[in-house]
Amino acid sequence: MAERYADIREGVRALCAQFPAAYFREVDAHRTYPEAFVTALTKAGWLAALIPQEYGGSGLGLAEASVIMEEINRSGGNSGACHGQMYNMGTLLRHGSAAQKQAYLPKIARGELRLQSMAVTEPSTGTDTTKIKTLAVRKGDRYVVNGQKVWISRVQHSDLMILLARTTPLADVKKKSEGMSIFIVDLREAIGNGLAVRPIANMVNHETNELFFENLEIPAENLIGHEGHGFKYILDGLNAERTLIAAECIGDGRWFIDRATRYTKDRVVFGRPIAQNQGVQFPIAEAHIEVEAADLMRWKACELFDAQQPCGAQANMAKYLAAKASWEAANVCLQMHGGYGFASEYDIERKFRETRLYQVAPISTNLIFSFVAEHVLGLPKSF
Ligand SMILES: Cc1cc2nc3c(=O)[nH]c(=O)nc-3n(C[C@H](O)[C@H](O)[C@H](O)COP(=O)(O)OP(=O)(O)OC[C@H]3O[C@@H](n4cnc5c(N)ncnc54)[C@H](O)[C@@H]3O)c2cc1C
Repeated sequence: MAERYADIREGVRALCAQFPAAYFREVDAHRTYPEAFVTALTKAGWLAALIPQEYGGSGLGLAEASVIMEEINRSGGNSGACHGQMYNMGTLLRHGSAAQKQAYLPKIARGELRLQSMAVTEPSTGTDTTKIKTLAVRKGDRYVVNGQKVWISRVQHSDLMILLARTTPLADVKKKSEGMSIFIVDLREAIGNGLAVRPIANMVNHETNELFFENLEIPAENLIGHEGHGFKYILDGLNAERTLIAAECIGDGRWFIDRATRYTKDRVVFGRPIAQNQGVQFPIAEAHIEVEAADLMRWKACELFDAQQPCGAQANMAKYLAAKASWEAANVCLQMHGGYGFASEYDIERKFRETRLYQVAPISTNLIFSFVAEHVLGLPKSF
């Protein structure tokens, strides 16, 4: 069967061919941002896929956007440098006002602005998002923000950031999901004027940071949607994020399986290709089956999201299945390469580290189990 969206795949592959694995190996080794790649992707319009045509984008859906992300990872690259723009766009598109869309979307589509960051996680509350402490207090035509965030990615390579903050303290709301709001923060104005950024060195080449807010002033017009409804809006964005990450994991999984297949057919030990041993074949076949199964759930999540139907269960399940499948494919690929899997020039150890992240971020496996147990199966609430 022909692959879905063959034309998009072909276009993205052609662009990625200009940034081979050696390019990503180099930026990984020096922990630098793949600026040339992200610029090329932006200029070619791929990062504006979700922007409606009236604002200068291509007006595509999450399914098409997911193919773009998948192909980047499948080519040996890493979408982590730019995937934020795709899912943050969804939040602005679905919940932003006409004036906000007009102000930002055409510039984002032209590549004049980047919306790569979203700040949700906080150091003392972790996954327990409704307990966030960052507070935005309305003062006249501004909100004044105080608090702290952690693991906020691409801030140094973005112009805009979506911020989730409490506008009503937890103690004063009826339901814990109420009283949070989302804002567009103009990072160009904010950094050094109430927002301090401290980079976090980490296992992958992923630009991520601690953020410190001290009386940061945000114009009231930068509130997205209604005050107090931000948690609901952010969940929509998180479903898009999980589905796109699932697609990236599927791209990774396919890359690992291609590599494992190629190498084991060529590598001769004991007088025959190692792929002739079923002890080598079976784990690769198993990994392939799991990647393909995860892909089915990814399409289900995309279809529901694009039809504006509830898709929390499918987005979470797709992310769980794909992250697990890509991690298993990574392990198999590394194992079948023997010692060579550890050599940087094979790119396997880099992709191995990159795909490992997705068991933890943007949501950890246990939290997906918890969501499915409680919200899909109706099991008792545990927290
Ligand atoms: C490289 C990187 C980039 C990131 N980028 C961003 C970003 O751009 N924006 C952003 O907002 N966040 C970002 N994050 C944060 C990420 O979403 C969180 O790290 C992730 O959601 C887990 O939260 P935590 O680290 O606070 O873990 P915790 O919430 O402290 O959890 C730690 C472990 O305990 C488990 N656990 C916790 N509670 C339970 C429970 N009740 N039952 C069972 N198990 C439980 C979790 O599953 C997890 O395995 C990033 C993280 C990383 C590592």
